[in-house]
Amino acid sequence: MTDHDLARFVVGLPKAELHLHLVGAASVPTVLELARRHPGGGVPTDEAALRAFYEFTDFAHFIEVYIAVNSLVRGPEDVEALVVGAARDLAAQNVRYAELTVTPDSHVTTMGMPGEAVAEALTSGRLTARAEHGVELAWVFDIPGELGLPSGERTIDWVEQHAPEGSVGFGLGGPEAGVGRPQFADVFARARAIGLHSVPHAGETTGPETIWDAVRDLGAERIGHGIAAAHDPALLAHLAEHRIALEVCPTSNLRTRAVESIEDHPFATLRDAGVVVTLGSDDPGMFDTTLQREYEIAHDVFGLDREALVDLAEASVDASFAPDDVRWALSAEIDAYRPSTATDPSAP
Ligand SMILES: [Zn+2]
Repeated sequence: MTDHDLARFVVGLPKAELHLHLVGAASVPTVLELARRHPGGGVPTDEAALRAFYEFTDFAHFIEVYIAVNSLVRGPEDVEALVVGAARDLAAQNVRYAELTVTPDSHVTTMGMPGEAVAEALTSGRLTARAEHGVELAWVFDIPGELGLPSGERTIDWVEQHAPEGSVGFGLGGPEAGVGRPQFADVFARARAIGLHSVPHAGETTGPETIWDAVRDLGAERIGHGIAAAHDPALLAHLAEHRIALEVCPTSNLRTRAVESIEDHPFATLRDAGVVVTLGSDDPGMFDTTLQREYEIAHDVFGLDREALVDLAEASVDASFAPDDVRWALSAEIDAYRPSTATDPSAP
């Protein structure tokens, strides 16, 4: 099989994306729109210069780009542009459903937007995403862990007050080292009390203990990354038994040096242990990847054949918090795409 055939197969595969951050998803066309809206913001307004600025060099540069792009998100119309831009990029890869992680505290506290306006921008962007791009979006609201418990409390306050339609999850992002998961137990309990699912990041850059903490103290139903579980057989067994899915983002792990090389990635160890693994792209705009590319890596590097790629797509739908009608429709489409049951649409 040539790479071209595989790329066509993957793009035809209907997909769900469960690990995608709103600001980190911003691709060049979206950032160009924001940079031109806010010239003088330190982000190039010329496309070629922006492409050069956006080229991933190292993790420090990623942080620089992330901060620069975040500083362009000044008003609700900018939040909406990010949402619609993400939907456009997802639609181009045949991603039909996505749980998009939004960090309300960045927009409300750091950038000073009214909380109500952020919620309205998300709602409006979600409707446009559906109408213009055929992408169903749901929301995960996460705590920027580096800002600590006060930020966690502001985040859940905002969610309790504003939770826009499509709110499904509550998360915890940012650095893990020095940001203990248990301190957020009460905040997560409040989120779960209003029906949100617990989906914290854990075990990305720290060890298995962080994942245990997320499971025990935060009631995690899915784990962002969770790759450190590969070092703990008891944890692997626990995750498999309780069907706590991992949102695995291989390129992100490589970029942040959570893994030394893509060949060292524990993807196969996790799957072989019976853990539900889903693929995500994390911050694709900034990590120079797409969900499409992550599926290609699953084939090229981790050795998954087409049938297994279809299983992977189904795993994301199963582990999602999509409403039943969305879930069933997408699942049926994915199943119909199986090489064993469908006429191969990528065949010449
Ligand atoms: Zn993430």
